[in-house]
Amino acid sequence: MNTRVKCKKCEKIAVVRVPYAKLNLCSEHYEEFFERKMLKTIERYRLLRGVEKVLVALSGGKDSLVLLRVLSKYKSVLGVEITGVHIDLGLGEYSEESRRVVLESCRDLGLECYIISLKELLDYTLLELLEKTKRPPCSLCGLLKRYILNTAAIEWNFNAVATGHHLDDILVYRLREMLIGQRESEVLKLAPITRGVQGLYATRIRPLYEVYEWEIKVYSELCKIKHLEKTCPFKYRDEISASIAEMLNKIENKAPGFKIALARRLAKTSLRETPLQQATPCQYCNMPSSSGICALCKLTLKTHGKPMGLILREKLRNIKVNYTENSTAS
Ligand code: AMP
Ligand code: ZN
Ligand code: ZN
Repeated sequence: MNTRVKCKKCEKIAVVRVPYAKLNLCSEHYEEFFERKMLKTIERYRLLRGVEKVLVALSGGKDSLVLLRVLSKYKSVLGVEITGVHIDLGLGEYSEESRRVVLESCRDLGLECYIISLKELLDYTLLELLEKTKRPPCSLCGLLKRYILNTAAIEWNFNAVATGHHLDDILVYRLREMLIGQRESEVLKLAPITRGVQGLYATRIRPLYEVYEWEIKVYSELCKIKHLEKTCPFKYRDEISASIAEMLNKIENKAPGFKIALARRLAKTSLRETPLQQATPCQYCNMPSSSGICALCKLTLKTHGKPMGLILREKLRNIKVNYTENSTAS
């Protein structure tokens, strides 16, 4: 950033350039710009229509903690209650640090938070389950997180689960699936909002749908948002995703704002579809399934020799908010 360029809104020196909006902004006005953008996304896609209680899924990384801070700051304007939830996957030091930063952030914001320990729910950590199943880490972790977050929201009577998925991740994921994927209906779920089905699916909202990863990074630095710098030990980007990201970045550089326009176009297709309505309740636990047995019950029939869905639901029901390190899930 040229050190003599002034902020578009005041006399201060600008510290951020927002190319697609042709704006140079000082720290204070960037903060305002970022928050407004998120609020406008909430309005544009009616993410909070009819919603009173939002469960914010917190990984400990900057995306979800930035999301938490903005939702918390505007909760009275938005007319919602905000509560955090973190799943401790049992990945050693990485999970311990994630859990600590999530608890601290919620405490600093005066918000309640649930901590769910995978080990307490299923008797095994993610590492132990990976060993048992030999499944790819991201697919197993995704399955567990989806089931647990959805079931928790249903059991605790939340109207919506908010996640920190942002523009760059969503576009790469969706284009990858369009080009070589086989799970089109899964991908359609990565819309700004996936409306729930009473008692089966909690509504999922993604308020960072139109927000670039770099915008989150700058906001988190300027607002000094505490978060975990480390990324998940299993995180990797395959070559195809990396090529898609590179191509999108090249177009974005030539035509600033291109990614937002593309995301809006994709939102139109995904909002028209309603893949969730086709789900049928699992015969063991009553949670959603495509074939009569849900993914978690299928998995645990193999790992535990019995379907664990119902037991897991019961344990979730008993978890207390405002978790302290001494309490247990039973
Ligand atoms: P990821 O799939 O790791 O990129 O995460 C996407 C979003 O899922 C994050 O922004 C969070 O909202 C949520 N999430 C990821 N990991 C966790 C976790 N361990 N506990 C709760 N929510 C999570
Ligand atoms: Zn300014
Ligand atoms: Zn089940």
